[in-house]
Amino acid sequence: MTVNKKGILVVVSGPAGVGKGTVCDVVSKNNPEIFISISATTRAPRRGEVDGVHYYFKTKEQFEEMIENNELLEYNKFVNGNYYGTPAKECDTRLENGVNIILEIDVEGGKQVRAKRPDAVMIFVLPPSFCELEKRLRGRSSETEEDILSRLARSEAEFEYGKKYDYLIVNDMPEMAAAKIQAIIEAEKHRTFRCLNEVKKNIIR
Ligand code: 5GP
Repeated sequence: MTVNKKGILVVVSGPAGVGKGTVCDVVSKNNPEIFISISATTRAPRRGEVDGVHYYFKTKEQFEEMIENNELLEYNKFVNGNYYGTPAKECDTRLENGVNIILEIDVEGGKQVRAKRPDAVMIFVLPPSFCELEKRLRGRSSETEEDILSRLARSEAEFEYGKKYDYLIVNDMPEMAAAKIQAIIEAEKHRTFRCLNEVKKNIIR
């Protein structure tokens, strides 16, 4: 029996190429009750990416309208000029309905979520080593050399903020990293501050 009724907001960050996407996909495949939030972005779709499934692909104007209308829980504009952000309403509706949500976002977005939602669970994913990270990033071959170098340079700065996250996880094997995230979410469901109201209502005053 689980007594917390609201979903848990989980932030997963980590350097580009660390495999957060793969890890989060494993988590949601193993747990259909955990939903990976769909971000809005102005970057062009990669091959195989579908609007409304992988991202909501927006023009710069559309995205800036979302910012002005306060529709985003968090957002960031990356050095390459592309915006990325989390549509707030969709996220909140799911949380209210008891769905656990993972935001796979960068540390700047993570900072904004932490400030607005102190109950969010912050997980930072690390590579087994930085050589391995570069190998993974190059293996992806979907980015330009300039993009790769800028993403590598950002990863060290990102870890400075990653040190403030609640949990650090090394992704040496996606299934293992996913199992750790699942274990964290399971434990978080039972945190006293999440359960106390329901316990007082239904079990003991
Ligand atoms: P990609 O272009 O490879 O899909 O994503 C690049 C980076 O954008 C990833 O490291 C990912 O964490 C970050 N990202 C994706 N969606 C969001 C979002 O909604 N907000 C923020 N702040 N970052 C995001």
